[in-house]
Amino acid sequence: MHEVAIVRDIFSTLEAAYPDRMDRILKIEIQAGLLCSVQPILIQNAFQAFVLETPHYAQTELEVELLPIVAYCPSCAKNFEVLYHRFVCGCGKPSDQIIQGEELRISKVIFKPNENEY
Ligand SMILES: [Zn+2]
Repeated sequence: MHEVAIVRDIFSTLEAAYPDRMDRILKIEIQAGLLCSVQPILIQNAFQAFVLETPHYAQTELEVELLPIVAYCPSCAKNFEVLYHRFVCGCGKPSDQIIQGEELRISKVIFKPNENEY
């Protein structure tokens, strides 16, 4: 049910940002860090259900990009990718300083061109 809430949140954010262009959204791209535990299939299902309830979004598509988890190692002063939830740098030191992986954001919105604008 996590994904249904995310989809509703995405649309309310967009409705606030583009109140006069909501009927022309063709595509929404979101980026979800792996720590958000977003399942792309579940979010697509939630999205399809939402779009069915809201016919003027019938032509809107959703694309989900998953972002890897990246943490910072203070000993090496470098970032490293966290694999299998193992927050340990290549040098062997643990770190929980997360740089990327917790975000959930709308990265791009594509609108259908308005025939009246040129
Ligand atoms: Zn290190």
